[in-house]
Amino acid sequence: MQMKKYNFNAGPSMLPREVIEATAAACLDFDGCGLSLMEISHRAKSFQPVLDEAVSLVKELLAVPEGYSVLFLGGGASMEFCRVPYNFLEKKAAYLNTGTWARKAMEEARLFGEVVEVASSAVDNYSYIPKGFEVPADADYLHITTNNTIFGTEMRYDPVSPVPMVADMSSDIFSRPVDVSKYICIYAGAQKNLSMAGVNVIIVKDDALEKMSRTIPTILNYMTHVKGGSMFNTPPVVPIYCALQNLRWIKANGGVEGMAVRARERADVLYAEIDRNKMFRGTAAREDRSRMNICFVMNEAYKNLEGDFLTMAAERGLVGIKGHRSVGGFRASCYNAQTMEAVDTLVQCMRDFEDLH
Ligand SMILES: *Cc1c(COP(=O)(O)O)cnc(C)c1O
Repeated sequence: MQMKKYNFNAGPSMLPREVIEATAAACLDFDGCGLSLMEISHRAKSFQPVLDEAVSLVKELLAVPEGYSVLFLGGGASMEFCRVPYNFLEKKAAYLNTGTWARKAMEEARLFGEVVEVASSAVDNYSYIPKGFEVPADADYLHITTNNTIFGTEMRYDPVSPVPMVADMSSDIFSRPVDVSKYICIYAGAQKNLSMAGVNVIIVKDDALEKMSRTIPTILNYMTHVKGGSMFNTPPVVPIYCALQNLRWIKANGGVEGMAVRARERADVLYAEIDRNKMFRGTAAREDRSRMNICFVMNEAYKNLEGDFLTMAAERGLVGIKGHRSVGGFRASCYNAQTMEAVDTLVQCMRDFEDLH
């Protein structure tokens, strides 16, 4: 029998086992129809309820106010780096530069108009979230990245902004409540905290659309998909089905409030060990520490032992804890499906490694 694996991958990442099993079952026989989910029309009567329920669960779980639409579209979060300025940047947009993804979003926006970088932590390798920055009152929007997957920092608050906000929530959506009314657009690639790769969830404010003077290519215009109910063209049906299973799982496990409690419990235990253990230290500023991506490195005196720690972790079934090359060291991603058992196993491994040295 294979050793039990504890999955700390940063994305694509862990999903609840029952979500994977339900999706796998639908790939073999969808809804008892004798055909695979992969081989039926997205316009089949039996598929529409899948999309409808997924949309309504997003609205319910995040308490999305009236006047917003929820879309499920392909393309990855990187597609929204382009689609957002195409739809919302008339003259000028403000971007908060908190990491690699935030920077990529900002660079894309420069193709469309003036971009003001309101603040950046780039010179400190994105180890903190800048605060106290000023947002130009004539900007069309302020773009933020709520969780910086690579650097392990997170904004669990809405910054003060005189203009409406747009947020990339790819790696912390559904991990906590959000005041959606502060945003004209929230988007997330699914493969961090919602589903398998292949679909984005986009929450867009209807009355912020169709104000743009430029012509937007049909497929890149959010309005196309609002009007088409995410069915303007063939949507990624299997990732949407998987997202639905996960949304049901989130609801059954206490909703986003329940997810927030569990995320906090996991992060508290792991950061406490990072701070206690003489061999390790966290890389992100304490007040900005992410609950989703917990980044740490070996203290200088033990730097040459990083490989040994990874080997020991692998022997215990701990998968995906090698840090991103921009930070080095280790990263334990603790998305919604992550278990306390996995966190305890990692903590025990860190303790045993300290005892060895
Ligand atoms: C992973 C990630 C992206 C990129 O997602 P793709 O779906 O690969 O385009 C963008 N933003 C954040 C915050 C991410 O974590």
